[in-house]
Amino acid sequence: MLYTRKSILDIANAENFAIPAFNISDWAMFNGVMDISEAKNAPVIIAIHPDEVAHVTTDLIPAMHARAHRSSVPVAIHWDHGGTFEQMMVAIRAGFTSVMIDASMKPFDENVALTRKVVEAAHAAGIQVEGELGTIGANDSYGESGAAEIIYTNPEDAVRFVEATGVDSLAVAIGTSHGLYPADKKPELRHDLLQEIKAAVGIPLVLHGGSSNPDAELRRAVELGVNKINISSDIKVSYHNRMREILGTDERLREPNAIQPACIAAMQVTAAEKIDLFGAAGKAALY
Ligand SMILES: [Zn+2]
Repeated sequence: MLYTRKSILDIANAENFAIPAFNISDWAMFNGVMDISEAKNAPVIIAIHPDEVAHVTTDLIPAMHARAHRSSVPVAIHWDHGGTFEQMMVAIRAGFTSVMIDASMKPFDENVALTRKVVEAAHAAGIQVEGELGTIGANDSYGESGAAEIIYTNPEDAVRFVEATGVDSLAVAIGTSHGLYPADKKPELRHDLLQEIKAAVGIPLVLHGGSSNPDAELRRAVELGVNKINISSDIKVSYHNRMREILGTDERLREPNAIQPACIAAMQVTAAEKIDLFGAAGKAALY
């Protein structure tokens, strides 16, 4: 079912698991994510980044609602990395069930002011808001943005931020980066910091840039109170690597229905691994 009015993350917070937020950029990927989430009986967050919204357009959202309404699992449709108040209004009108306002690159007070404004408008419409404090790194200039250097979230600032803004969930910077890690860069999470932040704020915490972090680190992060993990690069790499293989075999191939199914199946293997790793499998039964 389409999960509205309440945060899909509250049960994850109470029951100590994380829901994967899969970034999708087309209808085949969306359906593939829905199918595997239903097969795993796992709640799911469909995340769409502004660049992806520009690609698929908000016209796709009503179709997603239709699919979510007849789904056996709870589904949230989430605007990822909103940058402006105007974008957030587009998201609310288009039928997103939650939004992220990311003003983390602004000074603290400006981040608070913009996030507070979005929270007031979104809550009036029954939509939840994710804020971000600290800056998540970027491994490459391709795909989602991020800072060259990670600024770790300060636990005391996190308390002030949550109180001042009223956000429902908080994306924290504890050492992850958007994109894929180059061979010479080793991702390392600050679990001590995560534990401190969670104890201080209590609300669902969100991890961005979770692609290519070691499984053990992510599992530990879930144990310590992360309730949403964004997965974008990992599923797209699986999807398109398989597509490259398929297209290389026969240059007469042209029909999407002959090309995409095997790519979706490859993407679903990766998605299923994340669902299991985050402890989300079977958790639709709790909703
Ligand atoms: Zn992100």
